[in-house]
Amino acid sequence: MSAPSDNGPAPQHFIRQIIAADVAAGRYGGRVVTRFPPEPNGYLHIGHAKAICIDFGMAEEFGGRCHLRMDDTNPTKESMEYVEAIREDIRWLGFDWGEHFYFSADYFERMYETARSLIRAGLAYVCELTQEEFKEYRGVPTRPGRESPYRNRPIEESLDLFARMRAGEFPDGSLCLRAKIDMASPNLHLRDPVLYRILRTPHYRTGDQWCMYPTYDFAHPLEDAFEGVTHSLCTLEFEVHRPLYDWVVSHLGLAEPPHQYEFARLNLSYTVMSKRKLLELVQEGLVRGWDDPRLPTICGMRRRGYPPAAIRHFCELIGVTKYESLTDLALLEHCVRDELNRTAARRMAVLRPLKVILENVQPGHVEEMEAVNNPEDPAAGTRRIPFGRELWIERDDYMDDPPPKFYRLAPGRTVRLRYAGFVECVGVERDAAGDPTALRCRWDRGTPDGRPSDGRKVKSTIHWAHADTAVPIELRLYDRLFRVEDVGALPDDVDYKTQLNPDSLKIVQALGEPSLAEARPGESFQFERVGYFCADAKDHAPGRPVFNRTVELKDTWAKIAGR
Ligand code: ATP
Ligand code: MG
Repeated sequence: MSAPSDNGPAPQHFIRQIIAADVAAGRYGGRVVTRFPPEPNGYLHIGHAKAICIDFGMAEEFGGRCHLRMDDTNPTKESMEYVEAIREDIRWLGFDWGEHFYFSADYFERMYETARSLIRAGLAYVCELTQEEFKEYRGVPTRPGRESPYRNRPIEESLDLFARMRAGEFPDGSLCLRAKIDMASPNLHLRDPVLYRILRTPHYRTGDQWCMYPTYDFAHPLEDAFEGVTHSLCTLEFEVHRPLYDWVVSHLGLAEPPHQYEFARLNLSYTVMSKRKLLELVQEGLVRGWDDPRLPTICGMRRRGYPPAAIRHFCELIGVTKYESLTDLALLEHCVRDELNRTAARRMAVLRPLKVILENVQPGHVEEMEAVNNPEDPAAGTRRIPFGRELWIERDDYMDDPPPKFYRLAPGRTVRLRYAGFVECVGVERDAAGDPTALRCRWDRGTPDGRPSDGRKVKSTIHWAHADTAVPIELRLYDRLFRVEDVGALPDDVDYKTQLNPDSLKIVQALGEPSLAEARPGESFQFERVGYFCADAKDHAPGRPVFNRTVELKDTWAKIAGR
């Protein structure tokens, strides 16, 4: 589980302070019950991860519990596929709801009864205004609205119509049940809001049992109340709904009704998080499915190789506030790198290979070099990697005519080979255009304490792969999904899809040390000097290695933050 103490003391934030004060004052008998209420109409994304970390994190911290509830009161876009994916993603993030898994749809009967009791108490009525009339009567915030002519109809009449709505006697969108609150309220949500609407759409759980459904504003407070939720944490867009939330729970006869608190959504640069947009990208084939590693979905990040601990750490660093902001993607990548640096085994792979021939090594001679698996983790041990006369190195690690600050290979120059002594470039083979096709080098095993035998100074270390045994690897190099930083801030006349980064995926064929063919799907590595990669969960197979680049090594966040 994600104890905040993993990364030092938990920072203060207003929700933590509110809950701590409630616990100290003995409110709700000292109990803390939160919930995470996704609508199963899409896959979870990094924004949801923030909410999950807050909801589950607060419950855990205060010895309470967090419910997982499918907020499925709108049957048009919901499905079991999404329910399963949501459960899997939350578990993977490291959170557990125990036995507290609920569906809003399971409360439909109880909600119906609650609605009837509101009608009986004179607090709700069946309204027959058309949708256009409804809007017109509701008015604008600066002027009071008008009361519906059905507002004061007899209670018995509303009860009867409500029962007949349920029985399917009226067409979709014709009648609705409304709360009787205040048509003059400056808050439009209190101007006799709709509690039930008729909708003949089968529900993925209740089938065609219902032809009317409660609205979110009615259902959500009821669900919280039914489950004994104490602190109902959600994002800022629900702030204006809170008076209605309070109105609903105030009529349930609870001694201590649940209370809603709002925090700012997470917005992340160079990506989108609206479910509608994510669905569009998937459906229009602009990405390769919900788990495309370029998406900010939790399954996409998992496939890309982001460790769950890194996502939790990120959510802790961004904190909980009440103001909207745009978080730099570089911060998330910084957290990923930080985690992988500690946990990922090191391997060597060459992306743009250039042949090196070691003139003083016999053809056919192969020996094994000992390599450290993770300098940050002595327990990770060592491995042996084959070495022989012909090697691959990175094309970029050689220059015919190097500028002053280039310390890698050049004619006459010596560099260190990672785990394998030193090479001096003594000649270059070229193609007709004059470009190098192979470097001829002399190998020096070095002294036992790891210096060149001739005592010369070497300023650079390069990685390599043994040509005879290297395995070809497909590498999928990902970059930002969008080329603009704040996709949400694009002018209305700019279609966000025109702003996709055309270079967000590049596929290259690399050559890596043989053990990479045996990597487990999902396993993460640092390819030395190149980046962090993970074996693709779907396409990687023994004999056909496929790796996703999780993140590059260069930490732009550390640079920005001046660290
Ligand atoms: P839609 O925009 O389609 O309504 P949603 O992103 O709000 O979708 P829900 O399934 O309703 O999706 O969200 C479940 C919970 O996650 C809600 O409590 C919501 O406040 C929270 N949440 C959603 N997006 C973010 C975000 N970007 N940052 C933090 N919390 C979020
Ligand atoms: Mg929502």
